[in-house]
Amino acid sequence: MEIKKGIAVSPGVVISTAVVLDAEDLLIPKRKIDPQAVPAELERLGQAVATCVVDLTRLRDDVAAKHGKEIGDIFGFHLGLLRDKSLMNEITNEIKTETNSAEYAVSTVMRRHANKFAAMIEKSPYFSERVKDIHDIEKSLLRALIGSRRQDLAHLDQDVIVIAHDLLPSQTAAFDKTHVKGFATDVGGRTSHTAIVARAMGIPAVVGLGNITSEISGGDTVIIDGKRGVVIINPDEEQLAEYRRDARSMMNFENELATLASLPPETKDGHVVSVQANIEFPAEVDDAIDRGAQGIGLYRTEFLYLAQEREPTEDEHHAAYADALQRLKGKPLVIRTLDLGADKYTQAKALNPERNPFLGDRSIRMCLHDIPMFKRQLRAIMRASILGDVRIMFPMICTALELRQAKMVLNDVMDELEEEGVQFRREIPVGIMIEVPSAAIMADQFAKEVNFFSIGTNDLIQYTLAVDRTNEKVAGLYCPAHPAVLKLVRDVIRAAVRNSISCSVCGEMAGDPLYTLLLLGLGLTTFSMNGPDVPEVKKIIRSTTLDHAKQVARRVMSFDSERQVMHFLREETRKIIPEAF
Ligand code: PEP
Ligand code: MG
Repeated sequence: MEIKKGIAVSPGVVISTAVVLDAEDLLIPKRKIDPQAVPAELERLGQAVATCVVDLTRLRDDVAAKHGKEIGDIFGFHLGLLRDKSLMNEITNEIKTETNSAEYAVSTVMRRHANKFAAMIEKSPYFSERVKDIHDIEKSLLRALIGSRRQDLAHLDQDVIVIAHDLLPSQTAAFDKTHVKGFATDVGGRTSHTAIVARAMGIPAVVGLGNITSEISGGDTVIIDGKRGVVIINPDEEQLAEYRRDARSMMNFENELATLASLPPETKDGHVVSVQANIEFPAEVDDAIDRGAQGIGLYRTEFLYLAQEREPTEDEHHAAYADALQRLKGKPLVIRTLDLGADKYTQAKALNPERNPFLGDRSIRMCLHDIPMFKRQLRAIMRASILGDVRIMFPMICTALELRQAKMVLNDVMDELEEEGVQFRREIPVGIMIEVPSAAIMADQFAKEVNFFSIGTNDLIQYTLAVDRTNEKVAGLYCPAHPAVLKLVRDVIRAAVRNSISCSVCGEMAGDPLYTLLLLGLGLTTFSMNGPDVPEVKKIIRSTTLDHAKQVARRVMSFDSERQVMHFLREETRKIIPEAF
């Protein structure tokens, strides 16, 4: 038995069997397979080789047609290697006699050969090219082996816990939710989008575990404790019994909370607030409403772009918005325009990867650099505006000019639709996310030009404290309770109140029960969070008075360290729900 501590990102306890996804960086951990699994492993290898042969033949023919046979023949060496019987025998022997996984066998044998050629480079540069060729083939084979496993995670026939170096938000969103019971990764942070998607899907997860991929083998029994951030590998009977008890009591608590779904989020002294949900896909609306959400305060539309290789068409956008609105039956839907970039875009896929993508061409900046793309989305939103209570929200606004430009594009779109005789609602509410310090500091000015604010604390924290939200090495510094962050949140709420516009928080802080009393006491009227967080936050709101929340907020704002803030809030919240921490 081994216990590993990481960063808790999605609560819940699960016990299941591990499957390990290898990273494409070729650091393939040694992994044994069950002797009975040897034939299946050989079959996987055979399929991977066949896939590579087909791909390479096509590539060779394409290149030969475009650039001549000599250039095309470069791939002849690659194909020759894949057809080399003695090389393939070496790999299959590793699987048969050493019971190594196909990935590990490929990696070991190919590296052995690459090293042999590398030792001869001094004699001729020819060998250096051969080393590159071998690495290339190794990579293709691994991609074929690992790629097929990744796809499998969308269609499983048994329960698993996924162990990976890292997961993309889109990969996580594609998991077969009935069978992927939890996941654990080497890297990542609490508000990375992968973590957010896990919480939204209700999948327990722990990230930032360092080298969990090399410590767990496929088939190991694993416990994921997504609340304490603990992963237990091959637990003993005692641990298993304890965690089964914990899982049962968590379930009882959740059943108790579920009874709150139809009750209003109203304090004991009659102060009513709105509790809404964040979604990535329209289908999440149903679950959010079932849990008691009163609308969607944040629809992360970039997941439309992440779910496929190409940009969605205007009609695809429209269909998604119409779907969400139909499910909402008149409840509000805040559609956030494309917020791609940073961790929501694989830099590997980008034409020119950015050195610092969180500070780069992301979000509204990207839209203003590609007006036709931006317009396609805005047209779809405006066409959907007559189907329900739609509101538009621009993300990552840093300057007044950006906001004005975005509004100008929106006006152009409305004029175009009018000319075309297409119906839409011109008075659509337009809001912005406050998620960079410049916008928070200038909130009074921004409030005069928009209908609402939504505070994106996930980014606001990272940009205020200079801490990458996805980097496990600095996760200890990423803290919503930092007095600087709290002052910005307080001032933005105040600016909204002064200018009579509404203000919500839609970052993860809104769904963390630790901050409910504080946000309520600071005057927040709309909380938007992952669906599974709705019942607990509602319970806190319904168990306190506005006066008490205000006292808590006053006390918190007098502290000068995040430790004091968290300690005090933990004590206060525990008095209401002891199960929370
Ligand atoms: C935020 O930054 O707080 C937010 C809600 O947006 P996202 O998490 O999608 O960046
Ligand atoms: Mg954000």
